[in-house]
Amino acid sequence: MSNTDFALAVEDLTVSFDGFKAIEDLTLYIDRNELRVIIGPNGAGKTTLLDLICGKTKASSGSIKFKNTELTRMAEHKRVRLGIGRKFQTPSIYENLSVFQNLEVSYPAGRSVFGALAFRCTDEVKARVQVVAEDIWLSDKLDTEAGLLSHGQKQWLEIGMLLMQEPELLMLDEPIAGMSARERELTAELLKRICVNRSVIVIEHDMDFVKQIAHKVTVMHQGKILAEGSMDTVQNDPKVIDVYLGH
Ligand code: ADP
Ligand code: MG
Repeated sequence: MSNTDFALAVEDLTVSFDGFKAIEDLTLYIDRNELRVIIGPNGAGKTTLLDLICGKTKASSGSIKFKNTELTRMAEHKRVRLGIGRKFQTPSIYENLSVFQNLEVSYPAGRSVFGALAFRCTDEVKARVQVVAEDIWLSDKLDTEAGLLSHGQKQWLEIGMLLMQEPELLMLDEPIAGMSARERELTAELLKRICVNRSVIVIEHDMDFVKQIAHKVTVMHQGKILAEGSMDTVQNDPKVIDVYLGH
């Protein structure tokens, strides 16, 4: 397999903040249809890596290619249009809007026949909202104000808002933080479902959850990759046990 066949190819990526290298010479390849989990101690650079991929932070050097298109100098909104969706640690939903409206406003402008300026609530948008709402177990909550949802439901709603855009690369930063056991189970099921026809990168600490969802695990430490492979391989790696799992 050549490097151009990957959905995402990150090569020799470095970012420094006032001389401190939060990411250093990092190389990582993600396949289409792959669900990759990134683990590692606090401060390892996991969130920074997602910031670099989505364009929130500019790389100091190295390359990030998505479907063989170089991203490093591309503006954040253009990366979204290319099919990159990213969920931050704290859910950013419109608390005062209904679940329906939250999903509706997330439908990509310009994709509907009337364009961004016209009223976008066409049958096409409504149908898409229904499908996504079912995916995230909120189809009976469409008229509910988003602020009234449980914390877990808010997290799902934000995932749903990203799904409205049908991203080809979806990145989730600690998506189950603050969720109940049952919500975690359902989220694992959701993530396994949505990695079909796209790539998904999940940052997570809960090892039981990681075990359930990961195709492959990347362990980061001090801005670099410490280990990578199946859950089994990584879990039994003495280096990983030493810096992360042993604590
Ligand atoms: P993780 O998500 O693995 O816990 P982060 O990516 O948030 O780690 O942080 C990695 C390191 O980079 C930390 O030491 C953090 O303080 C530093 N860092 C992250 N973003 C910035 C920034 N914008 N400016 C300065 N330092 C930063
Ligand atoms: Mg983080």
